[in-house]
Amino acid sequence: MGTEAYRRIRVLWPDHLNLARGKYLPSRLAERGTRHCLTVFGLGYDRDMGPVPGTGFLEGMPDMECHFDVSEVRPSWEDGVGVVIGDLERNGAAVPLAPRTVLRNAVGAWESMGFKPKVGIELEAYLMEPDPDGGWRPYNAPGSMVYGTGVRNDPQGIVQAIDQTADQLGFRVESVNGEFDMGQFEMTLEFDDAMRCADEVFLFRAMAMEVAAQKGHLLTFLPRPIPECGGNGLHVNLSLQDASGSNAMLDSSNPDGLSAIAKSCIAGQLHHMAAMTALCAPTANSYKRLLPGQIAGYWKNWGYDHRCATVRVNPERDASTRLENRMPDGAASAHMAIASVLTASRLGVEQDLPCPDAETGDALETACTEEHTPDHLGAALDALRTDRDFAEAIGPEMVDQYLAVKDTEWQKYLTANGSWEETIDRFTDWEKQTYLPYL
Ligand code: GLU
Ligand code: MG
Repeated sequence: MGTEAYRRIRVLWPDHLNLARGKYLPSRLAERGTRHCLTVFGLGYDRDMGPVPGTGFLEGMPDMECHFDVSEVRPSWEDGVGVVIGDLERNGAAVPLAPRTVLRNAVGAWESMGFKPKVGIELEAYLMEPDPDGGWRPYNAPGSMVYGTGVRNDPQGIVQAIDQTADQLGFRVESVNGEFDMGQFEMTLEFDDAMRCADEVFLFRAMAMEVAAQKGHLLTFLPRPIPECGGNGLHVNLSLQDASGSNAMLDSSNPDGLSAIAKSCIAGQLHHMAAMTALCAPTANSYKRLLPGQIAGYWKNWGYDHRCATVRVNPERDASTRLENRMPDGAASAHMAIASVLTASRLGVEQDLPCPDAETGDALETACTEEHTPDHLGAALDALRTDRDFAEAIGPEMVDQYLAVKDTEWQKYLTANGSWEETIDRFTDWEKQTYLPYL
């Protein structure tokens, strides 16, 4: 469909906070693209801005351009509006801070090794309804259950409306069901090329949050918005297609059916786990989910069909054989989480890292290792700062900028709440104000 079918083109791009920024553009001006201030990459959720490296804060806050391919404009969930994802450039070069640039580079590195990364993402989220005090409380669905479907799981039909909208817009939904706790849902899209997968998740998430908002509800992907209930993951499933189109994770000559490259990818994901965590569990709230017994990726372990392992290998040995990293959470940008998994996996191959033995215990309160994800956002940021191999490989300019923004966010959490240890069991007012409206 040409752009003339639309009154407006909504140009969106993912930022460093996992927010969808952009502009509406009249379709007659679509070819021009849009322009934005580069210093947006210095913002926190609270709109605070400072001299963050690479963002031009002290250099006049210059422009960047957003380009897109008009043939990629597609129908959106708003009447008369087509939507498209844009790429950010400055002086003719890709903006290194942009999540899409980071992911494109991560994919490119695999492609030059002869492999095409294929990714599937599982989205988990809580639906919230208005409470009498002007805040939000969990969606009232007393008949809901894990793997629940139907009206008792979704009494107001909110998730049903999201699902129908997804079909109308051509998202390739794989499954929709109730997750463990009341008001919690899991929605998965079919796997795809890494960039296309991230783009689809980005748009699906924006659509789902807005459809819920139109119906007076809040859909939140925050990792642990309800302390009494489980967390929201964003599990990243990776397989690699080789030049012949086969799944490179397979090797039937090995007893477990996994290839050497699969083992190196696992090794890389575990070796660089702490640094990855900063990008895949990007908020202070994230570390209220990354705890023992939460069946989120916490231990530095992997396992065969093991939900308490950070890297779970599914039991099938066929085109679907994949490595599921269970550590990333719903606050993470799909582009950044996928780029992190791809980069750590690639380092595993390039550095020929040894793969540890698979988890054999229950891995609930204890595991085959005592090592686990960093205890809080501050520790995760330090891990990203010190893992220079990972930082260089994923994008050093982005890492410097990201650390500056997130260091500030972490300091603000501590200032508002006094200490981490005393607030680990609570969803603080600061999180409610800073994160809940956005994530
Ligand atoms: N909700 C869990 C998490 O936070 C995952 C549950 C599942 O296995 O789907 O990652
Ligand atoms: Mg799930």
